[in-house]
Amino acid sequence: MPLGRLVPLKMLKNVYRGLQNARLARQVGPVRRVDRVAPVPGRRLVALTFDDGPSAAPLRPSLRAGGTVSGTIMDLMKRFGARGTFNVIGTTRFNYPDRPGRLGGVFWSGIRFDHYPEYGRDDWAGVLAQPALARRLVDEGHELSNHGFTHLAFGPSLYGNGSRAYLPGLDAVIADLRTQHELVRETTGFAMRLARPPHYIERTADGRSAYDAYRVLGYTYLGASFDGGGWQASSGDYEADVEMMVRPLAAALAADPEVLNGGILFEKDGYNMSAQSPVADGLKRHLEILRDYGYEVLTASELLALSPFSDIGPAHPIFPQAKALLEAGHLVTFADNHVRPDSRLTQADLEALCVRGASCGALSLATDRGFATPPVLGAAGLLLRFAGSPTGRNLAVAGSATELSARGLAAVCLDYLGSVVLPEDEAARRRALLTGLAARFSGGWALPATRAEVIAMIAATLLGV
Ligand SMILES: [Zn+2]
Repeated sequence: MPLGRLVPLKMLKNVYRGLQNARLARQVGPVRRVDRVAPVPGRRLVALTFDDGPSAAPLRPSLRAGGTVSGTIMDLMKRFGARGTFNVIGTTRFNYPDRPGRLGGVFWSGIRFDHYPEYGRDDWAGVLAQPALARRLVDEGHELSNHGFTHLAFGPSLYGNGSRAYLPGLDAVIADLRTQHELVRETTGFAMRLARPPHYIERTADGRSAYDAYRVLGYTYLGASFDGGGWQASSGDYEADVEMMVRPLAAALAADPEVLNGGILFEKDGYNMSAQSPVADGLKRHLEILRDYGYEVLTASELLALSPFSDIGPAHPIFPQAKALLEAGHLVTFADNHVRPDSRLTQADLEALCVRGASCGALSLATDRGFATPPVLGAAGLLLRFAGSPTGRNLAVAGSATELSARGLAAVCLDYLGSVVLPEDEAARRRALLTGLAARFSGGWALPATRAEVIAMIAATLLGV
């Protein structure tokens, strides 16, 4: 019997998520998971995200009535002047349900496979079968994000249904994501930059993770901060299902109107696990409530362009420098998308801040553990330099880890300076700044500065911001 049937699934998930968050808060790397961002002063912004579409399935399949899922969602979004991010799949063919969905059931209908969309109806959902729906999403200003071609889990589930089918390892995950990326690009012309793993399962069967795969494809990991609830098991009563979807959002906003500001809302663009979707009627109520509280509904990328970090918003003093470094490809945040400007800088942070993520895309594949805890990350930093800079390669061979901190910083920054054309006086000014910066960091693993101080110095040195 799956563990999830003995211990409440939600409790297991919360414990697991807590452990995961603690790990992400220590991890830096080119991929960050965004669950929410810091509010923009004077505005109430929320991103809406929809998983598992596009779907031409009838909204209420038990009644064979009510329009299609994606079509109805798009009509509603247009009516409310809202845009969303749609985490689309390629095909339901590999997620064929092996047990029919039923109303009033507690567990997913599928045992090994999933539940999209229903028996014998692979023509209903996914970009492959529904290219016109995918194009309409893009035409109407929505954003597409990679939810996998097959929607097979990246690895075994750590909780709940342990018999669910999954991809065999990282290479298969990358191949699956690439197939979907190309399909979406060829179908719609849209180049996806965000991704969300099916069922949020991150670990691959061979001990790697969604972060390794997303790094290769250059994706940001799109999380969520509030569950819109449309995926839950049906009670069998349609109106009650809609109510179940609406009540938590209404209650949360009644308790705190700011609770969703900067948040990412999870919605569903497909069936719930009982082959009946309350999502269109539930979404209409969600949009009405959000409007009543003065929220603007945006795509995730629109939200991130206004406020990219989870802990510091546009009013924070270090925001312009941190944003400029992020946009230049530097690893400004931890994997949980926090900058932590007041925390003490470690050697690993320093190495990460100085490196442009784009230049180390394939690197983690060459290391066993990728970017992990700070000591391991020190080693990853060395490897980054191996990959990115001939000077760094020499330093990594010649210097101890401690020496590398100051000297490596100077080397990486000077490499960067060497790659841009600057007027001589400007180059001299930045070199002087750089020398001063390097001189400050001759200590060991814990360096005597806050991350904010160093971000300001690096942005000034490298970008002139
Ligand atoms: Zn999904």
